[in-house]
Amino acid sequence: MAAQSNSKPYIPLSGSASDGYSEGDRATATCFCGAVQLEFPTTKPGLVDTFICNCFDCRKITASMFASNFIVDDEYIKYIRGKENLTEFAQAKTIASNNTMTNQFCKTCGTLMNRVSSGYPGKSILRIGTVDDFNLHETALKPRVEQYAGNRVEWFAGGRGVEQHEGPVF
Ligand SMILES: [Zn+2]
Ligand SMILES: [Zn+2]
Repeated sequence: MAAQSNSKPYIPLSGSASDGYSEGDRATATCFCGAVQLEFPTTKPGLVDTFICNCFDCRKITASMFASNFIVDDEYIKYIRGKENLTEFAQAKTIASNNTMTNQFCKTCGTLMNRVSSGYPGKSILRIGTVDDFNLHETALKPRVEQYAGNRVEWFAGGRGVEQHEGPVF
């Protein structure tokens, strides 16, 4: 449930860590077990964009029906802990652009923290669901666009108030 006032952080217990924070234009994203935590910017230029993706890879890699992402300039990301606890899996076989997508997961709990494209150097695709301040899911990180809407599962209507695209945007 979203708090109606989004001016204060709303950090419910989710996963094992309880030390996430949201202050000014910096906030944390933490994996499910708490081993990996990073700090990212909630404003431009560090925060580049926000989007939903319904492509088939995103179904499989999130074990869900779509991915909700935000793109951050790497220079603005600071790891609080656990960078060494990330493991990587990369492939290019199913990527429409032929780019290699490298996915970084927490070795302990498997949370997908980061996705990097060879065609988009210097940027990281982080996951809205890993952000500790749930108000940011509704505000600064609300998806701007939704891509591969043409691949969306029939029973899901898509993001409300989110610009729709049948195919790829990024
Ligand atoms: Zn973890
Ligand atoms: Zn996708």
